[in-house]
Amino acid sequence: MSSLVERERAVLMGTFRRQPVTLVRGEGCYLWDDQGRRYLDLVAGIAVNILGHCHPVLVEAITRQAGRLMHVSNLYYTEPQVELAERLTSLTGMDQVFFANSGAEANEGAIKLARKFGKLHRGGAFEIITALHSFHGRTLATLAATGQEKYQRPFAPMPEGFKHVPFNDLAALEAAIGEQTVAIMLEPVQGESGIHAADRTYLQGVRALCDRRGLLLIADEVQSGMGRTGSFLASAGLGVAPDIVTLAKGLCGGLPAGAVLAHGAASCFEPGDHGSTLGGNPLVCAAGLATLKVLRDEDLAANAGRMGLCFLQGLEGLRDKNSAVAAVRGIGLMLAFDLREDRAAEVVTLARERGLLLNATGPSTLRMVPPLTISEAEVETALGVIDLAVQAL
Ligand code: PLP
Repeated sequence: MSSLVERERAVLMGTFRRQPVTLVRGEGCYLWDDQGRRYLDLVAGIAVNILGHCHPVLVEAITRQAGRLMHVSNLYYTEPQVELAERLTSLTGMDQVFFANSGAEANEGAIKLARKFGKLHRGGAFEIITALHSFHGRTLATLAATGQEKYQRPFAPMPEGFKHVPFNDLAALEAAIGEQTVAIMLEPVQGESGIHAADRTYLQGVRALCDRRGLLLIADEVQSGMGRTGSFLASAGLGVAPDIVTLAKGLCGGLPAGAVLAHGAASCFEPGDHGSTLGGNPLVCAAGLATLKVLRDEDLAANAGRMGLCFLQGLEGLRDKNSAVAAVRGIGLMLAFDLREDRAAEVVTLARERGLLLNATGPSTLRMVPPLTISEAEVETALGVIDLAVQAL
């Protein structure tokens, strides 16, 4: 381990604060480190491994496709890409898809799509309103969209064309709309800032506002999509149909992928407007198709809803009996709790030492985004370890 730390430090840019663990194998909701220790994984590659680790259907699909055709560029037709787009449009009610390679890239595509729409239909309007405490990615435009100054500061000046307003405040949003506004971009559930869901009435109000003012509604479902909140899209679960949706993270079960989905006039890219060399290649799309198959066959969105409720009730019990816990939140398998003090990093360590992987999204906030395959027994185990870790503070 220590030699790997030194090798890593020498050759990798120090962008990540890593946990002191080297992971070598995964199966279901469990991971193993190089010392043979087993961990129950509530991080799931940050909401990526929705089928758990190394699901046999996914492994088989990737292996089969890898031996047949992995990549040919978007200069040619490939069957898995078209089939995955067909499945995604039928699941979401969107009309068309563009495949990218990550969440940031999918959002970058959505931003370009909104600007193109503005040129075509709104006299060149280009401004996008997003929420404070949002997270939309690390490219320059998605960083500018992200409503967190701490991430933007080292790279200022930001690209222009973004305004930030408080989340879940319809009046503030309406007041921010101007002549140049073309779209509103929101996470239906803010993930990176510690699991804050949009109120149903707020999101429906935003939809109505967009309709009234001729604006596009972009739902960043990079983290909340793919069944994690109990429905395929969190926005649909909250009763709202966006004009543009972005997906990534769980989309291809652990292979790098992103997608921009658009409906009606919002789907306005023409040849040459946008592109990606690797986006939507046969290997990732075969993985995406297998991921969607398992999601349906094992009814994983419903499991996420059930297990999420069970987890949330457990967390509420923990909050009621332990004064160190200030608040708990959750929608499906996007869950979080806040401590009264800035000791989240200690809880991560204490839990890891007891065989449970958690992730701190802030000094006092812990996030749980486990595989959607998690069982009730695993939820109980996780709650037991969280209880012990919090008590040990
Ligand atoms: N959008 C949301 C809602 C996210 O949670 C994230 C990542 O955490 C991103 C975008 C960026 O995705 P990626 O890291 O794949 O670029």
